[in-house]
Amino acid sequence: MKIAVLIKQTPDTAELPKVSADEVRTGDVKAAMVINPWDEFAAEEAVRLDERFGAETVAITLGGPEATDALKHALAMGVAGAKRIDDSQLPDGDIWLTATLLAAAVQAEGEVDLVLTGKQSVDENSGSVHVGVAQKLGYPLLTNVVEIQEVEGGQVRAVRLVDGARETVQVPLPAVISVGKEINEPRYPSFMGIRKASRAQIPTLTPEELGVAVPDSHVRWDRIRKPEERKTQVQIFDGATVEEKAAKLVDALLAEKVI
Ligand SMILES: Cc1cc2nc3c(=O)[nH]c(=O)nc-3n(C[C@H](O)[C@H](O)[C@H](O)COP(=O)(O)OP(=O)(O)OC[C@H]3O[C@@H](n4cnc5c(N)ncnc54)[C@H](O)[C@@H]3O)c2cc1C
Repeated sequence: MKIAVLIKQTPDTAELPKVSADEVRTGDVKAAMVINPWDEFAAEEAVRLDERFGAETVAITLGGPEATDALKHALAMGVAGAKRIDDSQLPDGDIWLTATLLAAAVQAEGEVDLVLTGKQSVDENSGSVHVGVAQKLGYPLLTNVVEIQEVEGGQVRAVRLVDGARETVQVPLPAVISVGKEINEPRYPSFMGIRKASRAQIPTLTPEELGVAVPDSHVRWDRIRKPEERKTQVQIFDGATVEEKAAKLVDALLAEKVI
């Protein structure tokens, strides 16, 4: 079995609030960059499927040279190989452009049985790249998967989390699966894994090498701005009894015309 796992590099969530609209506009984000946390679950699942069923695993990213660090994190976790599609010469992309290039890189790997992705990225957050990848490849798509039960006889059986319930579904391989955080507990890379990953040479692919004409973006982002900061104020009401405190709270809410 061959598994491709799609890995995006994103700002460290602790630094996300500091990212300015200008940095997003220019793409020159100053925050510390890490593997997209959702993609750690996908990388972990690829390694676990290898341990359970035996699989050749490869991590693929679309990003600049610095995105190799995210790939190296996946390698250190135990994913066997990695490829980076270079985006430095690309225009501002949209979901369709991203999906087109990632799907082409998956196809270039030959017979891939499973494409694993995170549920969403923590920065641009559209939760839709895997939909485009599945469409481009013509593979069935299972989203928000929280358990992969069996891969056998050319089929994969998995459990999806849906509103208030879990559903078990089966689709023929090859397939695209986006995973939720309930699927596993990503391992910390081992010291040996980190050493091995740090020495790895990661091949870079260009759209030309993938034989892809870069599609025009259908979407332009004209205005990027942060929402106004919300002004809040905290007031604590003293009182000898709960009734007294509640009465003061009711008076304040009435004065503010909240009730
Ligand atoms: C402010 C702003 C607004 C935008 N608005 C739109 C819009 O309305 N429509 C539109 O089409 N585009 C829009 N874009 C562009 C869009 O965000 C990008 O094209 C991006 O590729 C969408 O991916 P995402 O990060 O939301 O990924 P998601 O769809 O949230 O990611 C899902 C999974 O796909 C995989 N994945 C995603 N990106 C990569 C990658 N680069 N390499 C490897 N794996 C990856 C990961 O496994 C990830 O967990 C906008 C961008 C910005 C900055």
